[in-house]
Parts: sequence; C-alpha cells; structure tokens
Amino acid sequence: MADEMLSAGTLPQIGGTRMCSIHARGNCLDPVIAAVTAGRRYRHVVGFENGESSRAIKDALFNNDRRTGWYPLREWGWDRARCVDFIARVTSRQWTKSACGFCPFAMRTDSGRQAVVGERRIGVDGVTRQVLRERGEQLPALEHFFVVCPAVVEDKARPGFEAWWQEATNDAVLF
Ligand code: SF4
Repeated sequence: MADEMLSAGTLPQIGGTRMCSIHARGNCLDPVIAAVTAGRRYRHVVGFENGESSRAIKDALFNNDRRTGWYPLREWGWDRARCVDFIARVTSRQWTKSACGFCPFAMRTDSGRQAVVGERRIGVDGVTRQVLRERGEQLPALEHFFVVCPAVVEDKARPGFEAWWQEATNDAVLF
C-alpha cells in the first residue's frame, strides 16, 4: 500500500469509496477466498467490533448465494476497548490502529493521531520532536521519534571564510 501511495504521489482518501481497502484487502483476499472455497458456500468472518455497525451492514451487502459475512465480535458485544484488553492479556502488548502507519482513519481523533504520530515536544536543545516512544531507565534503551529538518543542506561557510582560506592557501604559505 505504501509503495502504491508513494508511486502515485497520493494518500488514502477519507471520502467516497475506500479504494485503499479495496486494493490492500479485497484485491488480495478475493483470489485466495476463491481458491480456498472453490465455488462452495462459505462464511466470511470479519472482525468488525460492536461499534462498527455501519461497516458490518455495508459488508453484508456483498453477501450472495455462496458468501455469508459473519461478525462474531458484534455477536459477543465486544467493543474496541474489550478487544484491546483481550489482546493485551494474551500477548502483553497494546495493539494500536492500523495496519498502515499512515492510515487517515486511525488519525481521525486526538488519541488516534497521538498513537500514530506520537506527541510533539520541544527539547531543551530547541529541537521539536514527534515522540512515539521514549527511552526508559532500563534496557532495552529504545526510543523512536521524528524530527523535521531542511530539505536542503544549509550553507556551512561562516562569515570570513573566504579571507581565512586565502590566508591559509596563498603561495607564501604553501611554497
Ligand atoms: S489501514 Fe487504513 S490506509 Fe491502510 S488500507 Fe486500511 S483503511 Fe486504508
């Protein structure tokens, strides 16, 4: 998905048809499902949570005489928080949205944006960093942050450089 976005010079769109999902999931899954089911009837299990009724309703429009969408999380009444708790208990990890690190849907809320791009901080060195992970007191000493820098290299020559260079490289000094 990232390769496609970068080569087209675009981003996933929020409005209209969610083409990124169609490309990244539908186009990949459809041939696999067709090969596995080989024309037989099947249930397509999709992990929409309890708060995603509109997505489930939309998905059910794709049901046909062979395919039946099934949404067990909604049957169980599991919302996103319940799912995240369960995953954390089983894996000891906090699972964040989304599969694509640039997903605009994951960044629609303040907490979503913070989870994806971190928190903006200005350090004592005056540099603004977008911090995703802070280095802790114990190992492993990992940190993850982004900084913005000029797109070009700044001129490093200080005032007076030409005169100093002349002094250091004239014939009297060199020969
Ligand atoms: S994770 Fe987000 S950007 Fe990636 S395919 Fe799904 S909706 Fe699109």
